[in-house]
Amino acid sequence: MFHSRHFNIIALAEGIYALEATDQGGAMSNAGIIDLGGFTLIFDTFNTPQAGRDLRQAAMSLLDQPIRYVVNSHWHGDHVRGNQCFAEETIIASSRTRAMMEQTQPGWLARMTPLLPKLEADLAGLAAKISAGPEEAGRLQLTAEQAYLLEIRESIETLMVTYPVLTFGHQLTLHGTKRSVELLSLGQAHTVCDTILYSPSDFIVFAGDVIAVHNHPLFTDGNPHSWLHALETLEKLDAQQIVPGHGPVSDASAIGSMRQYITDLLAISADYHMNPAQPDISCIPVPEAYQRWKAPGVFQRNLEFLLRK
Ligand SMILES: [Zn+2]
Repeated sequence: MFHSRHFNIIALAEGIYALEATDQGGAMSNAGIIDLGGFTLIFDTFNTPQAGRDLRQAAMSLLDQPIRYVVNSHWHGDHVRGNQCFAEETIIASSRTRAMMEQTQPGWLARMTPLLPKLEADLAGLAAKISAGPEEAGRLQLTAEQAYLLEIRESIETLMVTYPVLTFGHQLTLHGTKRSVELLSLGQAHTVCDTILYSPSDFIVFAGDVIAVHNHPLFTDGNPHSWLHALETLEKLDAQQIVPGHGPVSDASAIGSMRQYITDLLAISADYHMNPAQPDISCIPVPEAYQRWKAPGVFQRNLEFLLRK
């Protein structure tokens, strides 16, 4: 099977693959490859052009047929920055997602490009520390940082912001000879507009960042209250396999975990509002259930967001 430093390929059904981001590659989020019959659909394009390039090669290697459609679940860079590798294909997103990409992506590149000299200096510093021969744990930490910065440098140097060319409002069905899949915009959840892909014949959902597994989901660009409604809609689909935006492929229990996380944080922030003698937000501990989840810094950002509202 095709090998990439950016992702691992998981077969979910005949002609449906989840691509799970590796910890140190340039993917930073999950993606999907789906055989619709005679042509391929790609769901999300990762955080960097180089990961997008491998995604394209993986799709060709797995299915050996033209790629026709590419879907962006939402506007966040880690799901759209491989788009340029699919400039010849039809990139699809909700109209609100495309509008958000127009608002945010050129600005990101404009902010990052002047940082390249500093990034070079950081890389030189890391290389010096690594060559000094630190002990095992320190070396692993340094090489992980180095791998991340190398991916970001390559991304800034090669990124060409590429937008969806086909947009939709709430729902779009794509038909192939092998299967039909539905794109459903669930409205405001993790962002102002989140799209999921549902394959009814396979009971599989690619959920984008509406679902995160063993990762703190970010609230700050969306709305946790309407996110709970989005989860209800998702639950009604009766999916048996759910591919989250971050973390391993899961089953329908991932919906309950996400609901619990959102409800728990809403309760913590409500409690904070009610009690004037509360400590600083940074002193609020991550609940036991979420202590081993990745991206722990997101917990505090989420609470700050809820308490600002
Ligand atoms: Zn996101």
